[in-house]
Amino acid sequence: MTDSLYPSFPADPAQEPAYLNRLNPEQKEVVRTTEGPLLVLAGAGTGKTAALTARLAYLVETLKAWPSQILAVTFTNKAAREMQMRVGELMGSLAENMPWLGTFHSIAAKMLRRHAELIGLKSNFIILDTDDQNRLLKQLIQAQGIDEKQWPAKQLAGIIDRWKNRGLTPDKIVGKEEDSFADGQGAGLYLAYQKRLLSLNACDFGDLLLHMLVILTKHPDVLESYHERFRYIMVDEYQDTNQAQYLWLRLLAQKKRNICCVGDDDQSIYSWRGAEVANILRFEEDFSGAKIIRLEHNYRSTPHILAAASGLITHNNARLGKTLWTERDQGEKVKVVGVWDGAEEARQLVSDVQNLRRMRVPLNNMAILIRAQFQSREFEDIFIAKSLPYRIIGGFRFYERAEIRDALAYLRVITQPTDDLAFERIVNVPKRGIGKKAMEKLYQTAYFNQIPLTVAAEKLISEKTLGSKITQSLGQLMDSFADWRKSLQFIGHADVTRKMLDESGYKAMLRAVNDVQSAGRLENLTELARAMEEYDDLSSFLEHVSLVMDHENDPIDDKITLMTMHAAKGLEFDYVFLPGWEEGVFPSQRSLDEGGLKSLEEERRLAYVGITRAKKFCTISHAANRRIYGQWMASTPSRFIDELPEDHTDQKSLLRKKTSGWRDIWAEGRSKNPPRYDTAKEAITPPWQLASNRGAGWQRAQRAQPSSTSTPIKPFKKNSAPQYKVGDTVKHNKFGQGIVNEVDGDKVTVEFQDKDVGVKKLLAQFVSS
Ligand code: ATP
Ligand code: MG
Repeated sequence: MTDSLYPSFPADPAQEPAYLNRLNPEQKEVVRTTEGPLLVLAGAGTGKTAALTARLAYLVETLKAWPSQILAVTFTNKAAREMQMRVGELMGSLAENMPWLGTFHSIAAKMLRRHAELIGLKSNFIILDTDDQNRLLKQLIQAQGIDEKQWPAKQLAGIIDRWKNRGLTPDKIVGKEEDSFADGQGAGLYLAYQKRLLSLNACDFGDLLLHMLVILTKHPDVLESYHERFRYIMVDEYQDTNQAQYLWLRLLAQKKRNICCVGDDDQSIYSWRGAEVANILRFEEDFSGAKIIRLEHNYRSTPHILAAASGLITHNNARLGKTLWTERDQGEKVKVVGVWDGAEEARQLVSDVQNLRRMRVPLNNMAILIRAQFQSREFEDIFIAKSLPYRIIGGFRFYERAEIRDALAYLRVITQPTDDLAFERIVNVPKRGIGKKAMEKLYQTAYFNQIPLTVAAEKLISEKTLGSKITQSLGQLMDSFADWRKSLQFIGHADVTRKMLDESGYKAMLRAVNDVQSAGRLENLTELARAMEEYDDLSSFLEHVSLVMDHENDPIDDKITLMTMHAAKGLEFDYVFLPGWEEGVFPSQRSLDEGGLKSLEEERRLAYVGITRAKKFCTISHAANRRIYGQWMASTPSRFIDELPEDHTDQKSLLRKKTSGWRDIWAEGRSKNPPRYDTAKEAITPPWQLASNRGAGWQRAQRAQPSSTSTPIKPFKKNSAPQYKVGDTVKHNKFGQGIVNEVDGDKVTVEFQDKDVGVKKLLAQFVSS
């Protein structure tokens, strides 16, 4: 290490490093309290993460530890990257070697790979996802002769997960715990599941920590090595640690006791994953002599935003309570907007975003934070339509799965035989004996003749220059492609896809593998075909997919962020949009149904997290109608909207003029003539004509019933097919001119002038008038 590389390293004790100067006295105390247990308990945006990051830099700079001797745990991968970036800003290239900065899971996985054999695994063990886990459990349940319908695998997965989150191995499941599944068979199934996982050299997410806990408890030498390694331990978002994580931290910290945890009880939002706020309270007991520092100065949000969030969270009973203040300019009140339906909400939001862009606000400074994944669809659709760059964090990556990419490659070759990339991906998937040598011949032929690979393949087949077996299997594949292409004109593209998946041998290949993952892959392929039915033809579907995928990888840096509120914890944005604040969406129906007051309080904390992500502006919106899992629901505004302090919100109705409050509009609407909403394109059912959705307590809104005075809302259909009638003259690119002699939905039967072509039934959009 030389002075030229690190001019300020090691620190000159006479001079405070610049990053310390930026901190307030309490934060500085956090940084300087390097030895012994320390708990920082403070509200959102008070600079907890900032202090923790500075502390990390300080430890390195004052030579108390090398970066590799510090264990720093964050809650999400994104938070880990954020922290790494912040440390990078403070420490420069020294921050690059922070092997133990990450999430609980990533750090535990790293440790477990080093000691896997102590638990009966190999270091290259695989980590199962939820789908795989459920399938495995299903097999075990069935093998026990238990009725899986009555005792579903998913339920068992949840129970096992909770046991693991509490650090309970199968031998520790006793008494009441045992009875929780299939009349006391839960513990046995748990044991069988763990055995099966070992035999597969696999583990699930919960195992990463649980196995490490077992290893650290049973192997003092291993624990000792980590005691030696980790001079300092730091934990961000401590309020969301579960019991297993807590025990793991306690074991690692018990010798040196240099552990610093920062958290906020009002932001505890993961109890459904076993998080226990009580860990905050236990800290002082377990680490005697622990120092507690409170931070109260909020640096993030404007007073209106802070007051709105603070006012909302006072409706929770279970909280420690704290004061927050800010010196920032008053700013604007939190905007609350009511709109007709989800599509309108998305349009309204995009129009706000466009206005901000005109004022040169970068998209990177804006975020849309949703309660549930299903809300993202509507926004993605409009972003794509309006070419608005966006990034989804933590969303489904359905189209990136290998089997989906393979199926898409087949489909691309069907629509576009010149697509070499797609062709080379699947030419030998499933295996057709087309090896390296044959591929080289294909490439050469294509290159020398300047032709696509598919044409090169036809040429080699006709010239019989490949071995007879290869010629035959490649010939078969090319014939199949021709057949599938032709089928597109007669049967729907989803059916062609199903046909292709069968005839290509792709499904058979997955069936033959028959491992834990193949069943899930087959399900995904079924889902792919189903998803395609929403689109009018294969090309528009493929275009949609490529747009979605392109957005994942495009080089544009400036993008609006779309993510769940859960994933947004610890992050901040100048402009935050919070859509879908309706009863049943947020607070979520599930939390209302299942968890009672406790769950409701957790939802409220989530609302607090959502609002406190905003630095300058926060817009909350709610729609009167919402399509949830394919059904239209009438909605009432979230109770959280009522709980926001009036002085700090600006309520705006796009349904009708502002009145005293949202609930009044709804009550009024039921008794008087329903207001019409001008910008809605279709005739729509006003919410009070839909099945009632209010009452004593709140009940799930029923499905919209068409009434005599109104038409039910129709789902939005993409690229609706052109309409023709019998007798119309139409033209087809390949078949020429003809006359329509039958119309069947989006298909037409055409008698073509060319007698060789004859009569054909095709999708109406393949012909023009
Ligand atoms: P959360 O509870 O949401 O995780 P937090 O308490 O971790 O919030 P930070 O993210 O560390 O808060 O800080 C919030 C914002 O305030 C950041 O933009 C940070 O740079 C800024 N900040 C933190 N401390 C100070 C300070 N002493 N002076 C000026 N700005 C600060
Ligand atoms: Mg933070």
